[in-house]
Amino acid sequence: MFDPKYSYRRRPADVFQLMYPSYFRKRHYYNNDSFARSLGPRPTIYRRRFVRPLLLPTPDHPNMNGYSRKSPSKRRYEGSKYPVLPKKKPRTGKERIPQPKNTVAMLNELRHGLVYKLESQTGPVHAPLFTISVEVDGQKYMGQGRSKKIARIEAAATALRSFIQFKDGAVLTPLKPTCNLDFTSDEHLENGIVNYENISTDKLVPLLDALFRHAKFIKKLTPFMRVTDCALSMTNVNKSAITVDGQKKVPDKGPVMLLYELFNDVHFDCSTVDGAQNNCRFKMTVTVNNSKFDGTGPSKKLAKNAAAKAALASLCNISYSPMMHPQKNVPLPIDDKTSSMELPQIHADTIGRLVLEKFMEVIKGQESYSRRKVLAGIVMTEDMNFNEAKVISVSTGTKCVSGEHMSVTGAVLNDSHAEIVSRRCLMKYLYAQLELQCSQTTANQSIFVRNQDNGQYPYKLKSGVHFHLYINTAPCGDARIFSPHENDTGVDKHPNRKARGQLRTKIESGEGTIPVKSKEGLQTWDGVLQGERLLTMSCSDKIARWNIVGIQGSLLASIIEPIYLHSIVLGSLLHPEHMYRAVCGRIEKSIQGLPPPYHLNKPRLALVTSAEPRNQAKAPNFGINWTIGDSEVEVVNSLTGKTVNNQISRITKQMYFMKYGYLMKNLPGIPNRKLTTDYGQTKERVKDYQIAKKELFAAFRREDLGSWLKKPMEQDQFALPE
Ligand SMILES: [Zn+2]
Repeated sequence: MFDPKYSYRRRPADVFQLMYPSYFRKRHYYNNDSFARSLGPRPTIYRRRFVRPLLLPTPDHPNMNGYSRKSPSKRRYEGSKYPVLPKKKPRTGKERIPQPKNTVAMLNELRHGLVYKLESQTGPVHAPLFTISVEVDGQKYMGQGRSKKIARIEAAATALRSFIQFKDGAVLTPLKPTCNLDFTSDEHLENGIVNYENISTDKLVPLLDALFRHAKFIKKLTPFMRVTDCALSMTNVNKSAITVDGQKKVPDKGPVMLLYELFNDVHFDCSTVDGAQNNCRFKMTVTVNNSKFDGTGPSKKLAKNAAAKAALASLCNISYSPMMHPQKNVPLPIDDKTSSMELPQIHADTIGRLVLEKFMEVIKGQESYSRRKVLAGIVMTEDMNFNEAKVISVSTGTKCVSGEHMSVTGAVLNDSHAEIVSRRCLMKYLYAQLELQCSQTTANQSIFVRNQDNGQYPYKLKSGVHFHLYINTAPCGDARIFSPHENDTGVDKHPNRKARGQLRTKIESGEGTIPVKSKEGLQTWDGVLQGERLLTMSCSDKIARWNIVGIQGSLLASIIEPIYLHSIVLGSLLHPEHMYRAVCGRIEKSIQGLPPPYHLNKPRLALVTSAEPRNQAKAPNFGINWTIGDSEVEVVNSLTGKTVNNQISRITKQMYFMKYGYLMKNLPGIPNRKLTTDYGQTKERVKDYQIAKKELFAAFRREDLGSWLKKPMEQDQFALPE
């Protein structure tokens, strides 16, 4: 029941009330009911032996400052419900004074397992003088005293004095508050330069105590920093205090507690918000120095955590992203040493928020179609300016077309998984942006510019334009299959298992994925029509493909240089190792022979602070899509691949083939305007794209990860409608 490891020191009132609820109830009677009081004396066994005194800060206690403030504990039995005697009052205090320590305890915090040795005992028996030594880092420190205890304290004090001088010369400069840290109310330290050399042991203790309390706090942030270094870094506490050698570490302290420690002015406000699908969602707003940060979650606690994380990310650049955990098998730096796999948390949160807000905005009037399991979207930034980031597309959906509805005219949407749909929407945007280039007057509004460097591609993206994909959960297939738990952020214990990295296919009309190998061979049109399941590659596999051939599709690849995703932001279930392997890592060693500018793209990965709740509702059979410029969402029946009104969707192959035909006729600078009317043949003619695609398939085979399963070839044998 009661685990002694669970520190009752931390939350005394809590634990005692939990251990002895009846006592707390009884106390109520004893204090207030004369009849109950007459029953007898209160039990004495429950004396507050373990409870530290909790005092409010007073001027007499210079050690009390904002630093040691804790987050208000959540008590099952609210203090106010049970009237308490004045002497109980300290329990309700939010702040407490740490017990004064002696130098031995302090030194023990810095170096564990020190051995104190009795060097000598001199003087008469009635007044002995003990000399005790302690060895720290190979150096011996001595102390003398009338008792062994005093001698030990003196020895430790000598060691502590030397520690501080050793790093900082003979003096320690006073604290300078920055970043709103209030460690400085200690008047000793404010009085200016302190010379530890001459300070007496009893004065050393409160000084060092203040110093180490702060040092311990920084140590929490910088696990690999030595405490002495931390103590000395007090002199310039600032945001950089949380980085060591330029590498950030994840704090091992909860975000709420850390926020309370870093800032004095922290207020949480809670408001319940209706989730899109009757999920009870809580929204917490934290106000820190007049800046507000939001967090949402399925419980108040999670919402509060999310808000605190958002605040820490924004104010102090402290990230709790799983990407920050050291990963054994993930090669962290990618193309160059300065870049990291992680997108800054604050940017990830912006991307997630923008997509969700856009979804709420465009679904207005069509609320009956707001039900969703997977939500995805693409955000565009220019020069990484997230203040002016644009949502390019928003989509929902989890299913694929059923075999009987396959189309020979490219008129149905085969794959209605949200992230796949969002990427198709992005293609629609790319077509629209190229159409702007068809006219002199609109050409400069386009995100494309004429490509002077490479005649093969008449157009390219303006430099600094980036696309970021948001998905509210890990993409199906390799990225999701091995990381079913939200908190499962540890290192993959079996990275070499055969199942890791396998190509997988979605199951027709279903939600799971299976490895392609269990289903060897080609898919045929008649086979599928006869009832064979139509298989579509998983989203993880398709994203890996986009990281080789780009997201623009084969047709546009004849006009523009390949475009790659800059980052992928997940709303939940980000397991860095699985995700990295799924989207690029599994073929990084085997990919070769890509015709430039094709290359293996390694997108930045991130998880938003306010995680999407797992939605156990049954996935609907429809999905929505919206692209910037659309006046309203289009609702597609995922099983038929047509809109719910049985119209051809605006993001089908057929629609894009028509747009492509228009561009080939009207876009300035196209070297070869000859256009075959057959869709499949037109795709085949985009040589470099086809080479890149074949190299991708070869890379998967070389790694023994399976063969890419193509749709029956008849799917692409259609011509432009006249
Ligand atoms: Zn999927």
